[in-house]
Amino acid sequence: MTWSRALKVVPVLALVVVLGASSVAPSERAMPEAAALTLIKDGKTFATIVIPEQASLYEAKAANALQKFLQRMSNAQVPIKKDNENVSGTIVSVGLTSFVPTDIKKNLKIGEKLALTDSTRDSFVVLTRGRMVFLVGHRDLATLFSVYHFLEGLGCRWFFGCEAGEVIPQSPTIEVGVKNDYQIPDFAVRFQFQWGGLQKGPIVADQRQEWLVSTDGNAGPLKDQQEWYERNLLTPEPVPGESGHNYEEIWPLSLFGTHPEYFGEINGIRRKDAQPCLSNPEVIKLGINWAEWQLLKNPANEIVTFAPRDGNPYCQCAECRKLGNPADQNMYLANQVAKALRAKYPDKMVALWAYADSAVSPHIKADGYDQGQDRIIVELKNIYSKLPFEKLIRAWSKVSHNLFVYTYTDWYFYGWQWGAEGNPIYYLDQMANCYPDWKKQGVHLIANHTELSWGKVGFSRYVQAKKLWNVNTDTRSLQWDFAQKMFPSAPEAFYNYTSLGVELFSEVNWAKPESNHREFLRQAYRILEDIRQKVKTPEEKRRWQWYALYLHEQLLEYNLRLARTDAEKEAAIKALVSYLKGINSFNITDAFGAIEGIYAPRLGKDTVGRGLGVIDIFDEKIPSGERALRRILPDIPPQPIDLGKVDDLFNEDRDRVALFQPAESVEILHDQKAKALADEGWNTPTGISRRPTDFTRRGVKIDFDLPWIKAANSHSGE
Ligand SMILES: [Zn+2]
Repeated sequence: MTWSRALKVVPVLALVVVLGASSVAPSERAMPEAAALTLIKDGKTFATIVIPEQASLYEAKAANALQKFLQRMSNAQVPIKKDNENVSGTIVSVGLTSFVPTDIKKNLKIGEKLALTDSTRDSFVVLTRGRMVFLVGHRDLATLFSVYHFLEGLGCRWFFGCEAGEVIPQSPTIEVGVKNDYQIPDFAVRFQFQWGGLQKGPIVADQRQEWLVSTDGNAGPLKDQQEWYERNLLTPEPVPGESGHNYEEIWPLSLFGTHPEYFGEINGIRRKDAQPCLSNPEVIKLGINWAEWQLLKNPANEIVTFAPRDGNPYCQCAECRKLGNPADQNMYLANQVAKALRAKYPDKMVALWAYADSAVSPHIKADGYDQGQDRIIVELKNIYSKLPFEKLIRAWSKVSHNLFVYTYTDWYFYGWQWGAEGNPIYYLDQMANCYPDWKKQGVHLIANHTELSWGKVGFSRYVQAKKLWNVNTDTRSLQWDFAQKMFPSAPEAFYNYTSLGVELFSEVNWAKPESNHREFLRQAYRILEDIRQKVKTPEEKRRWQWYALYLHEQLLEYNLRLARTDAEKEAAIKALVSYLKGINSFNITDAFGAIEGIYAPRLGKDTVGRGLGVIDIFDEKIPSGERALRRILPDIPPQPIDLGKVDDLFNEDRDRVALFQPAESVEILHDQKAKALADEGWNTPTGISRRPTDFTRRGVKIDFDLPWIKAANSHSGE
């Protein structure tokens, strides 16, 4: 990583920020180092940003972003001009300008049509030649990536998709050393599905509207979230054509009346609840028609997805048995569809799911596999498979070169379990252990189900973005960089704070998380007090306030955990809800989702009879839209947040937490639910892909003389 080496030579708030020469290509090392190019000196501009005469939207966006952040760093505005205008001084060429030399275009395969699974699509360069800096990618989105990568080299960071995680260093002089940085990601598609941030649909939209009005009217965050993906080089949108369970849409259940033979035969009987009978040519024909209709309707789609019904049994008829197991049946379908589409849609790919019953070893290869020309994408879900996930990937890598891993991490806890909803949970071990291997096995696409909860999962989302770009990115270096950039006056203390999340919540006994939660609060308040004593700048103070607000929410959750009587529980939930509404605009947690999905059901009664039953959120007499609105608990007003009083709030909390009994030990164990599922042979998000590392120590009772608190300084030794 270029910037982590630059860390050694460039102080965090250096007056002069020079891009390190650490990524100079070997062939250029012998050459005398060219003088640094000056962009801005003592607040005066010496450069011009140049874009193509016919700049695309992304190219213009990239140039504007560069201009904006250089200005925020230096207070100087670098002008933007077209490549057919006269310019002098240093030229920063953004996108495919007429200045871009042929060899760069060739390297980036500009003009070539690349497959969705080819990571060269997102490749870009940051390089200097003469008095020019080139920021350009294979495609326009990658040009935007090149600009953010360049800015990252200057010290900018976007740790979270909100102001608290934004770091823009101040520097009246900005120079660029010799650069020859060619970047290509390890995975072609790098996506985080953000629960709470990308929800669509009329009821949810209305609810959100109501919610925004009832809290602070802040509708801004979604745009920030979108930009966060781009700034961290993630794929900003799901793959066009990706879909959830859709077999019922392709083969509607209404067909059963006239064509029971289209449906699976289970124990000799055709059943409406079975998956389709995929050996039937008519069934395949319907699938092909549906795929063609999809591509006709959505010409921009890159794939058509065939996603089985959720948990329904596969056909056992003689012909289907000849095809093989459920994995083979789905592969047979995908091959037939791909064959039919090939002539008319040579660029499109067909995706199938390895999920539940079809998450087994396939025997049928994707057509063209042996020639390395297969075009079937296999989506492997890391829940509901009976094969250990590593084996599942290995098995499918023998029939497809285009694997798509879909993981569920943070989201798993979301409303499924009661208690510790907002605790910071990190899954750094999964990334460190699995990503390099997944890459070797032919995984080109990764998506992760996560949350719009930056206080809870912000750091792991950031680490994931970096690991998806480069699987060998060193996690501890990222953690130390995060600490240094967020709190330059107290990096050791903040490093320890992030270690709390890693150590206490990577793998917790979720049936008994009280001691972990209590210990988290004890340590976190102690560390945050230490940080408060040290912070100097207004930015640090604002970030400190943000963490203080997050910890208060954690304490309110802990209050609920301690509540014994129904009256105490009701009061604790109402306090939480009011506070969550108050902090909505800070993006600390997905307040809307937590209230709608967790706390409203706890005030009501859920389907298994849990909950206080003091409100009726399922009342059949209330129209469904209104019923949905009740889940945001309109009678509970938001608690006003006064930033001038955060210190007082913190003092009160700190004094209370100081009285908590220290835990003799905390347990880092499988949660009971995961264990029960694992005992039945199922993978679970917590149970799979986890091996003890120095991030988690499964089964080890952590000594409360926490070793990492002391050891942290040794990580900063470089
Ligand atoms: Zn069949």
